[in-house]
Amino acid sequence: MTDKKKVKKYFVKIEPDECKGCERCVNACPKAVLKMGTELNFMGFPFAYYVGAGCVGCSACFYNCPEPGAVTIFEVSDDADGDSEKEEDEED
Ligand code: SF4
Ligand code: SF4
Repeated sequence: MTDKKKVKKYFVKIEPDECKGCERCVNACPKAVLKMGTELNFMGFPFAYYVGAGCVGCSACFYNCPEPGAVTIFEVSDDADGDSEKEEDEED
């Protein structure tokens, strides 16, 4: 087969020690795949985390977060057969 279909997948990483627990990302996410944890970071704030699946890469969490460096969205482009081709950091 020559027409391999590219399937974009995304995931989000939240740096616990950069998060101040404002929940803006949690409220902004249209897929409800971000949650607030109960653990505290070094500043004493609870921090958000990604549930591990369902991110569509809309960037709402990134643009609603007031803390630079707290949210990073990764794009993973896979072939239809599952071979991972690239990983992209959208933070900036
Ligand atoms: S990129 Fe969009 S779908 Fe993914 S976690 Fe952020 S707000 Fe939710
Ligand atoms: S918007 Fe940023 S600072 Fe606020 S909870 Fe989410 S990751 Fe943490």
